[in-house]
Amino acid sequence: MSNELQDMVGRIKLYLDLERESGMEEYFFYTQAAGQMAPEDTKSNLGSLAVRVASCKRCDLHKTRRNVVFGSGSPTAKLMFIGEAPGQDEDLQGLPFVGRAGQLLTKIIEAMGLKREDVYIANILKCRPPNNRAPLPTEILECEENVKHQVEIIKPKVICTLGKFASQTLLRTMTPISALRGRFQEYNGIKVMPTFHPAYLLRNPHDKKLVWEDMKKIKAEIGL
Ligand code: URA
Repeated sequence: MSNELQDMVGRIKLYLDLERESGMEEYFFYTQAAGQMAPEDTKSNLGSLAVRVASCKRCDLHKTRRNVVFGSGSPTAKLMFIGEAPGQDEDLQGLPFVGRAGQLLTKIIEAMGLKREDVYIANILKCRPPNNRAPLPTEILECEENVKHQVEIIKPKVICTLGKFASQTLLRTMTPISALRGRFQEYNGIKVMPTFHPAYLLRNPHDKKLVWEDMKKIKAEIGL
């Protein structure tokens, strides 16, 4: 075995040992490279990932969650929205962006000429932080591989990150969202448009026009 292969096997073994120690009892495997997946494989791989995440106990949020909020929408979406974490409504229903901020996100999606079912919506954290507090760095560290896998499976043309946490996590930066928004950047070869979070827009409606500018750039990029 070449040194490189030996090193890779060692790292996979270490990863699986750590997973097992942290309570992960089940593993899933992609059936093909994500780029060559047929839509039905995309759906089933997303389903396998959802099953795995549903029993996740990697951080303390599993103790207070009612439901894991994995994500919803089209497994072959060209556009993926990524928010911060589920709130109370999302925790109760097990679906992302179904509260007041979610209703505004739905309006934004529809104003773009799309339906919620056409896009994919997920969060960085899959479980609700108590009292809607901000995600902790350790929670983000434990959970971010889930959204990374979702992106790998869905392979959207564009990701729109909603707000500071999603944008800074994906783009590995501490730059404020006010400075990040409006310019395409890249995450694992996929274009990312950071914009303001709909919850922020509920408090600052005058900034809706800036978000609309960002959505117009996304529309052009995905050919709408
Ligand atoms: N805010 C988020 O960031 N995500 C949700 O799912 C709901 C509100």
